[in-house]
Amino acid sequence: MKDQTTKNTASSINIQKVQEDLEPIIMNVTERKLPLRAYQILRLAIRNLKLLPGKTILEREIAEVLGMSRTPVREALIRLQTEGVVNLIPRKGFKIEPIEERDLREIYEVVEMLEGLAAKLATNTTSEEEILNLEWLIEQQEKAINEKDLEEWARLDNLFHFKIIEFAENKRLSNVIEVHADQLYRARLLTINKRPLPFQSIVEHRAIVACMRARNGDAAQASMQSHRKRARTEILTALQDQYE
Ligand SMILES: [Zn+2]
Repeated sequence: MKDQTTKNTASSINIQKVQEDLEPIIMNVTERKLPLRAYQILRLAIRNLKLLPGKTILEREIAEVLGMSRTPVREALIRLQTEGVVNLIPRKGFKIEPIEERDLREIYEVVEMLEGLAAKLATNTTSEEEILNLEWLIEQQEKAINEKDLEEWARLDNLFHFKIIEFAENKRLSNVIEVHADQLYRARLLTINKRPLPFQSIVEHRAIVACMRARNGDAAQASMQSHRKRARTEILTALQDQYE
């Protein structure tokens, strides 16, 4: 009888601990419609590694963490499954998609080319003010590295790339990159402490913006692609070490 009770209440996660980890995200999500709210919280939690890749979690546990009934949580999970973020396992809950080397390789091959194109297009359209904004972001990145605040660096690095994509003013291009952005972000966060401090990326970001400032689109494209390629090699190597 005692065993039975233990079984029924057994948790794959520590509800209170997960609640604490998720609190900053929960506080920041302003959406009030429950299914959408659950979706936004879970997506951010997975993206920021508050829920780790490969982990299996029960639907009722997430409902408890979020203080909701199971129906909106299930709706959110189904959407996350169609987006390839989680995998629903009948009667067991859902598994957060692991970060696979093969997926990353494929994503990088596409994103490298597209971000190169974005840098080229943005070179033709950016204003002086926007270029100053990019230069300011690089300074903030350098400051974050000097203060060893690598999570802040990752956020700023992401913002820098996002801005260039935005400045390219091509909705279809940004949509394709956006689909893969979370997966790349997770891989970067996961390996952040296993890579050298990212000073090299500061040098490369400066080179990219210098090409844009000189209105040399081809050079901006080439320097963005080689920047992404170097980062890819570094991240894939760090991931291999992690799983070995
Ligand atoms: Zn970068």
